[in-house]
Amino acid sequence: MSGERTDIPCQVCLDLWPLVCDGVASEESRHLVEAHLAHCPSCRTETGEAPSLAPPAPPDDGRVLAALRRRLLAGGLLLAGLGCLVGLAITYSANMFYNLILLPLAGAAGALALGRRWPWAPLGCFGLTYLWLFLRAGWELLVHPGSMGWGEGLSFLLLSPLLMALIYSLLALAGAVIARLLAFVFRREPDGPARPHRPGGAT
Ligand SMILES: [Zn+2]
Repeated sequence: MSGERTDIPCQVCLDLWPLVCDGVASEESRHLVEAHLAHCPSCRTETGEAPSLAPPAPPDDGRVLAALRRRLLAGGLLLAGLGCLVGLAITYSANMFYNLILLPLAGAAGALALGRRWPWAPLGCFGLTYLWLFLRAGWELLVHPGSMGWGEGLSFLLLSPLLMALIYSLLALAGAVIARLLAFVFRREPDGPARPHRPGGAT
């Protein structure tokens, strides 16, 4: 194998490696390094690289990341929606105080999934709560007609859901803000493809 025309000495391979890592090496150099690493275990160990080198910014990585983000978004939104719905189901019940924890958690999940569009998490919570309680109040009024006067009925139908939606969305907002702050502090989200490992100490 070492008799191949495309082969380069180990030292040349290791010299070129940092340039390949930075994406400034020419196509040809990159191929030479790739070909050399494919059959030279000692350089592979030295560079810590698998036989097939990833180009500096492969389009596939972008697609994989986008797919990951989409899955994260869907999962986070599902979690947030479910949390909000469970919170609504126990509204006006003895377990209602669980919402003090549940809704901030739902807001946090939604905010983490939505990234920069995180304000939609508390807004969605507001909309969902209002719609749910409005329909619930409407149903109550339909089932028990004449149980309330006009004014009382209207406030029951419009104002109580509004008040609850405000409280719930504020709880979700608190969770969302905390989640965004934590995400900012820890910077957990991957911003791009990881850099290939370089041989010891080379900068
Ligand atoms: Zn070598």
